[in-house]
Amino acid sequence: MIEIKDVHKSFATLEVLKGINLTVEKGEVLSVIGGSGSGKSTLLTCINGLEPINSGAILVDGTEVHAKSTDLNKLRRKIGIVFQQFNAFPHLTVLDNVTLAPRKVLGMGKKQAEEIAVQQLENVGLGDKINVYPGRLSGGQQQRMAIARALAMSPEYMLFDEVTSALDPQLVGEVLDTLKMLADDGMTMICVTHEMAFARDVSDRVAFFHQGVMAEIAPSDEFFRAPKHPETQKFLSNIR
Ligand code: ADP
Ligand code: MG
Repeated sequence: MIEIKDVHKSFATLEVLKGINLTVEKGEVLSVIGGSGSGKSTLLTCINGLEPINSGAILVDGTEVHAKSTDLNKLRRKIGIVFQQFNAFPHLTVLDNVTLAPRKVLGMGKKQAEEIAVQQLENVGLGDKINVYPGRLSGGQQQRMAIARALAMSPEYMLFDEVTSALDPQLVGEVLDTLKMLADDGMTMICVTHEMAFARDVSDRVAFFHQGVMAEIAPSDEFFRAPKHPETQKFLSNIR
């Protein structure tokens, strides 16, 4: 599980996480929503140790992410992260993009890495694109490839940061379907999203961030049926 304990995080004098407390259980799907600049992305980059924190602690399966003794490379292998902006290697085929990390980071043999990659690409509906170059894929296909690439490392946790926000509206559904499939499969996921139907229907709980504070967290049906915090109410009424 992921335990976030009174985490404070600043960029210079700007405090962007102001004492976050949150536990995500194994198998849970959490959606994180909130306005721009509320600290959602920063939280994700702190969880996998891309960003240091100022105080508090983040534990992943009991390992303190920011402890000096923690092997971050090892820890990151179990935390997949997919961003809004997709960054594929344009000169590598889809298959080679997906096998790269298992081969380089895990030292996996070519044959085994390709077997896993093909399986993950089939899972996300890209079984017929393995020999194509990323530039030939649609935005939705590129994001599904990014998900397959993360999954090829056999992560135990997946962090998604607005993975549909840069997509044309007609491509959003196919990526959300992939996330839903993962959720149904039991993956532990934290999804920063603007897709309220996804947050309501797929996640177990929804957290609302406002100015560096987690203003509200509740089971998803309750969160949307009866939001308690005035800022949550305001946010939801503005996007409906
Ligand atoms: P969100 O994802 O909710 O839109 P972010 O976590 O990206 O918010 O950003 C929170 C705040 O931290 C914003 O004010 C943003 O400008 C600032 N910030 C984010 N990353 C950096 C950085 N690397 N250096 C300085 N300020 C940053
Ligand atoms: Mg963000």
